[in-house]
Amino acid sequence: MPAPKLGNKSTSASHVKPVVVRTIAELRQITGAWRKAGEAIALIPTMGALHEGHLALVREGQRLACRTVVSIFVNPTQFAPHEDFSRYPRDEAGDVAKLATVACDLVWAPDASTMYPPGSATRVHPKGAAIGLETDFRPHFFEGVATVCCKLFTQVGPDFAIFGEKDYQQLQVVTQMARDLDLPLTVIGLPTIREPDGLAMSSRNRYLSAEDRATAVTIPRVIADVKAAIAARADLTAAVAKAKQTLSTAGFRVDYVEVRDATTLLPYEGATTQVPRVLVAAWLGKTRLIDNA
Ligand code: AMP
Repeated sequence: MPAPKLGNKSTSASHVKPVVVRTIAELRQITGAWRKAGEAIALIPTMGALHEGHLALVREGQRLACRTVVSIFVNPTQFAPHEDFSRYPRDEAGDVAKLATVACDLVWAPDASTMYPPGSATRVHPKGAAIGLETDFRPHFFEGVATVCCKLFTQVGPDFAIFGEKDYQQLQVVTQMARDLDLPLTVIGLPTIREPDGLAMSSRNRYLSAEDRATAVTIPRVIADVKAAIAARADLTAAVAKAKQTLSTAGFRVDYVEVRDATTLLPYEGATTQVPRVLVAAWLGKTRLIDNA
């Protein structure tokens, strides 16, 4: 069998709008033809309201594979009833225009009844990397994420699925799911793209008032402080307590500031074999921001 054709597709396709597909039958027809032609596929799952962070993932998809698919689906099963599902920003036309600039081939934009038809009852329950952190505050979140990613993978059939480290625990959960369920694809994580002042780009940043936007940069700053404390072998408990205090004083309600093992997400014990990851979730008014480094 010939090897799949990987990236470096001609970029002359840039500014040609990607085809927007809403049914599984049409999706399978197009991706099936690509596979038959030996063209590798990269999938970038998103909830839309795209920014430079998302586009960086698409560019990497372009580099890795012949074809890039971006899914845009605000997944209801990963939001609790009191969360921001209904007000989550939606701008499909704007997203498609942005994706044209990075030569994305296809936008997979199913509606909720296509993704979860009446009677749909099967869910993926991740453990391992899903234990703690986000799960302590959003208990159903990773069940929704893992289920929708598993469905997106079987719908699109990608060779590569590309995620951002911005959602670090999600990246580890999806990586573990792909490994545990023998899904035939490679999960790739890419570094967080940041605003010039260091704030991680996020679709939710557009909720922030000008004042809160200025305050939000405190998150990457306290992460840098905790990382500096780790590098200096200073007292970690004190460094984390100081980070929480700094966030509270700036006006945040803190869900967590934690230092974890970068691979297992188990607590960081300071062993030389462990790579530390500092993870933060905190609220500014009604907006919940997460970041890590
Ligand atoms: P979302 O649309 O927020 O669900 O994000 C879709 C994908 O984009 C996820 O894999 C995110 O981790 C990734 N992503 C979001 N923000 C950024 C960012 N600032 N830099 C890199 N990747 C990001």
